Amino acid sequence: MDKFVLVGKNLDEIEKFMLDYNQSKFRAKQLYNWIYLKSVPSFDKMTDLSLDTRELLKEKTIFCELIIKDKQVSKDGTIKFLFQLKDGNYAEAVLMRFDNRANLTACISTQVGCPMGCSFCATAKLGFKRNLETDEIVQQIFLIQADTGLKVTNIVYMGQGEPLLNFDNLLNSIKIFRENFQIGARRITVSTCGIIPQIEKLAQLDFQSTLAISLHASDNEKRKQIMPVSNKYPYDKLIDALKMYTEKTGRRVTIEYVLIKDINDTLEDAKKLAYSIAKLKSNVNLIIYNQNEYSQYKKPLKENVMKFKYILEASGKKVTIRLERGGDIDAACGQLSSKMKNK
Ligand code: SAH
Repeated sequence: MDKFVLVGKNLDEIEKFMLDYNQSKFRAKQLYNWIYLKSVPSFDKMTDLSLDTRELLKEKTIFCELIIKDKQVSKDGTIKFLFQLKDGNYAEAVLMRFDNRANLTACISTQVGCPMGCSFCATAKLGFKRNLETDEIVQQIFLIQADTGLKVTNIVYMGQGEPLLNFDNLLNSIKIFRENFQIGARRITVSTCGIIPQIEKLAQLDFQSTLAISLHASDNEKRKQIMPVSNKYPYDKLIDALKMYTEKTGRRVTIEYVLIKDINDTLEDAKKLAYSIAKLKSNVNLIIYNQNEYSQYKKPLKENVMKFKYILEASGKKVTIRLERGGDIDAACGQLSSKMKNK
């Protein structure tokens, strides 16, 4: 018989399992806390459970089906995890700590590979294999906590894949992060390249986490050249959908804009971008392009980044520049390629 997989189950399911083996609800709650709050990956360490209970758990259950296959630590402290899935495919996640902040942010994946085909992104080069299941999304956080002994405080869905194309599992995993891991909705950010029907669904659901949009261009013609998604979901319609979203939810969106040298980093681009999002309740997060071996694109000149930022700020936007993390271990944005390891 297959063993009962613990990580991903809610309290009711763990209680039911424990009751089937004549264990109390109280024991179930203890086990639940060990898994989600402490993320201890060893039954022997669950010292407040009786030896019999621990033996039972060893025999009948496993924590996760995901396994940590490789781990790389950057000189800035960022850690990249390579997970092997039960079918032999791989997924990656990244744990980041920013100076002077107690927050510990995990960047997780929702798909094996990615179908979006953005011309500048290393993950796109993997092609698309499949969606991750809810458990496979959730287990990434458990394993990060178990491996480091640290509690993740913030989650960004900015790893491999397009979260809104794995919609049900995305929402289920957020529910588990909120209820079981006790990570607040406001500490969770979902990044999308702009799947309009799903953005409309999130608006109807009154989504409480932050929505970030990989916009990366100032008009549809330019966006189509680097992001094929714009053929299906055009720029202006995307901005309209976002306006509707902010009105419905009352929440600001984050506009992500990766600056690529000579592609989208001119003053003209900055002005057009400022104009097109002027009426959209949004903050802007500029990302400096991370060069990778899969494309010819280059990072922008520092001077252009500052000018770009200035123009957006002058238009009234709050603008941040994303700190690069883990570039030396290919853990930065757009560098998660599982080193072409998938089957
Ligand atoms: N598919 C989702 C989630 C991925 S998030 C989305 O598109 O939003 C990863 C972010 O890194 C996206 O904004 C992506 O466009 C950006 N990115 C991809 N390649 C990059 C690179 N080489 N340098 C910097 N950012 C990159």
